[in-house]
Amino acid sequence: MHAPLVLCLVLFWATLMRALFVKADLLPATCARCGLRLERRALGDPVCACADER
Ligand SMILES: [Zn+2]
Repeated sequence: MHAPLVLCLVLFWATLMRALFVKADLLPATCARCGLRLERRALGDPVCACADER
């Protein structure tokens, strides 16, 4: 079957579309490690702390 190929394509497109949305400011840029936003939009928002732990 073509299941692995289709899965690969869907994953590829999802990544590509997400990158486009982030670039268009429709979605906030998020950390690849923890999934939290890199920049605080409002006071008290949970943000990525990975960079601080380095
Ligand atoms: Zn992080």
